[in-house]
Amino acid sequence: MNCNICDSEIEEDNGDIVGNFGINPVAFCVWCVSSMTDMVIQLNSFDDIESLQERINDLKEEQYAEQKQS
Ligand SMILES: [Zn+2]
Repeated sequence: MNCNICDSEIEEDNGDIVGNFGINPVAFCVWCVSSMTDMVIQLNSFDDIESLQERINDLKEEQYAEQKQS
């Protein structure tokens, strides 16, 4: 099994990820997972304290709303 992005050999013992995107089986090495994580952080502005604080506030509001319902 090889990484779907860089084609290096997958070693699950070393923290490489094997799973599914929908119905498609996928595998990613730790380096590609790290790069994808960085990409998601940047795309969502999660490297910005203000944006993160807003997201935290949203999560808190969602949790309070859920607690009221139950
Ligand atoms: Zn890779």
